[in-house]
Amino acid sequence: MYKVKAYSAASATSPLASTTIARRDPTEHDVQIEILFCGICHSDVHHVRDEWHDRMPTVYACVPGHEIVGRVTRVGSAVTKYKLGDLAAVGCLVDSDGTCPECQAGVEQFCPNRILTFNSPDKHLGGITYGGYSDSVVVDERFALRVPSNLDLAGAAPLLCAGITTYSPMRRWRVTKDKKVGVVGLGGLGHMGVKFAHALGAHVVVFTTSPNKKEDALRLGANEVVVSRNAGEIHKHACTFDFILDTVSADHDINGYIQLLRRDGNITLVGAPAKPFAVAAFGLLFGCRNLSGSLIGGIPETQEMLDFCGAHNITADVEVIPIQKVNEAYERLLKADVKYRFSIDMASLKSD
Ligand SMILES: [Zn+2]
Ligand SMILES: [Zn+2]
Repeated sequence: MYKVKAYSAASATSPLASTTIARRDPTEHDVQIEILFCGICHSDVHHVRDEWHDRMPTVYACVPGHEIVGRVTRVGSAVTKYKLGDLAAVGCLVDSDGTCPECQAGVEQFCPNRILTFNSPDKHLGGITYGGYSDSVVVDERFALRVPSNLDLAGAAPLLCAGITTYSPMRRWRVTKDKKVGVVGLGGLGHMGVKFAHALGAHVVVFTTSPNKKEDALRLGANEVVVSRNAGEIHKHACTFDFILDTVSADHDINGYIQLLRRDGNITLVGAPAKPFAVAAFGLLFGCRNLSGSLIGGIPETQEMLDFCGAHNITADVEVIPIQKVNEAYERLLKADVKYRFSIDMASLKSD
């Protein structure tokens, strides 16, 4: 066991503050990673404030962070994938049973025994797992990911959650060249969706409530931008989309978007509005349209996504902050005052 600096929340109403936590010494299959950057995900805020109490109650003290990029500083004796000095990343998962049908299929996020990067039972040290707002992390090499060396590391960190969350449904629903793809909402998730859809060769249409995001959407790779308050402009696109990625986590009407799908088209939810949707069955019946959800991605697909990002030089647009600004960043995140993701420079933790 060794001690590392970290930022944790002591309760649902406490700000994040400097602390010290224990990490296990690497076992034979583990790698120890010095964390260089950690992205701030909206779910960090939900967990820190215990807003998902009914589904996943937060255990305090809580060290969030599951968009981790760093460098390998120690390896266990049986580690084969990594050596000292390699770049490595960790996303939302740090362990699973490896034997169930979901693990066998490479979709460890659905394993009944999955261990999340933070706020999951820690079978090594007891207590709960601690996330990436810290100096280092120790993880089984099966859950470490290779980072293409051409990528900017601050911008690569959010790929581990925002990236895979948007990449996975596009692959699943076969977004390819010449498909027409909609992205609803241009935030942390949406801006990644636009980059992936564009890189996959699709014709990309962004739906946003903010007319002032138009220029940015085009810069990120959109072919068209529709201001979604304008019903007439939306209606022009009826029955034309192969796939729509809905990234909005605020309450909104989904029926208008379902009407935009062509026959057999799919709309996938990756945002999580608190209130249930009212879905008109006729919208789905006429055209055999599909309404789906998607949850991050398994380890093999997360590696595929990182390799795809390396080949296409894709990273998130980030604002890099020192860890000392994390509470302020949470407030700004809630006001959508960031383009488009915060990435914490973990070197700042050393001076704390
Ligand atoms: Zn996340
Ligand atoms: Zn499993």
